[in-house]
Amino acid sequence: MSRVNETASMSLAPYAADPAHSRGRRYAEPAPAYRSEYQRDRDRIIHSAAFRRLEYKTQVFVNHEGDLFRTRLTHSLEVAQIARTVARALRLNEDLCEAICLAHDLGHTPFGHAGQDALNECMLDYGGFEHNFQSLRVVDELEDKYAAFAGLNLTFETREGILKHCSERRARELGDVGERFLQRQQPGLEAQLANVADEVAYNNHDVDDGLRARLISIEQLRELPLFRHHHDDVLVAYPHVMSKQQRHETVRRMINELVGDLVGNARARLEQLAPADAATVRMQAQPVIGFSEGVERDNLELKRFLREQLYKHHLVYRMTAKAKNVVRELFAVLFPDPRLMPPEFFDRARQLEQKQGDAGRARVVADYIAGMTDRYAIDEYERLFNPRRLR
Ligand code: MG
Repeated sequence: MSRVNETASMSLAPYAADPAHSRGRRYAEPAPAYRSEYQRDRDRIIHSAAFRRLEYKTQVFVNHEGDLFRTRLTHSLEVAQIARTVARALRLNEDLCEAICLAHDLGHTPFGHAGQDALNECMLDYGGFEHNFQSLRVVDELEDKYAAFAGLNLTFETREGILKHCSERRARELGDVGERFLQRQQPGLEAQLANVADEVAYNNHDVDDGLRARLISIEQLRELPLFRHHHDDVLVAYPHVMSKQQRHETVRRMINELVGDLVGNARARLEQLAPADAATVRMQAQPVIGFSEGVERDNLELKRFLREQLYKHHLVYRMTAKAKNVVRELFAVLFPDPRLMPPEFFDRARQLEQKQGDAGRARVVADYIAGMTDRYAIDEYERLFNPRRLR
């Protein structure tokens, strides 16, 4: 173990992931000279093409709708920020946590959940499409710039953290990273934390983006206790500032409350469990990282509100329906005629078809579509369907 790793692990809690006990990489590599193994994972993720594409992919709003809305890139950075704060407070492995957070959305299709739902429908007869599994596929197979291996050759712990959900069938095919789903075990604390940080980030930035887009109102949000009590405090403390500042003050206080609760609740659970090491944490029936009961209730109410008022909003629904059509029609034209894809995808489609038949060809078409940014998908749709466009 290098000296850097030694110094870093001295401050880690006994139940944190320790790079010295990593289950390693799929292809053995010499240890990094002055970084930990998980720092190297994070750095590979940041240098990947899939990471750069996150800038032009969205969750709720489509990328061209405005420059101020979150993209998957800024979302991933916010998730990493929240998770690192909690990781440091709990003495978990901050590098591993950051790596998982930055990679967690790499497999998302263009147009957020609408794109994923449409692609999953197209893939129903060929093994389905699921964004967590696709994120793992990106880091294991699809990134193709390293000479010695396919993918980014990340450590087991980062890969396991990326695979948040998984069906039993797929878990069996996946081998080591699928094990915990068959044995009904938990992932490490860093992966549990990345998962909750994702939720904290998107619930709160969707409130912020939703208000900015005027799809939801302060009056509606005041029906939620979590929003109302912070908004009341802000109105008392800053009655005369701009409403934009009141909005931001309220959202930042909500995030603070959720993060504070997460730290406090996790500390209490860890004290009670007193796990000797990271392996003991995995044996628990339930995740250790989570909110206290009261805050969990408030958080669920916020989620329910966003689902009903924002994600099902008439204008969001219309954009979603259009986005689904783009994905469906791209698949409908590319699957029967894969030569329409760029040559390297056509070659891969032929190769995988030889091994797996139609399912193999469909998988490569799904990889191609899933890799598209919002604007590329719209452009590709135009190129394929508008006879006046030559290229
Ligand atoms: Mg996310």
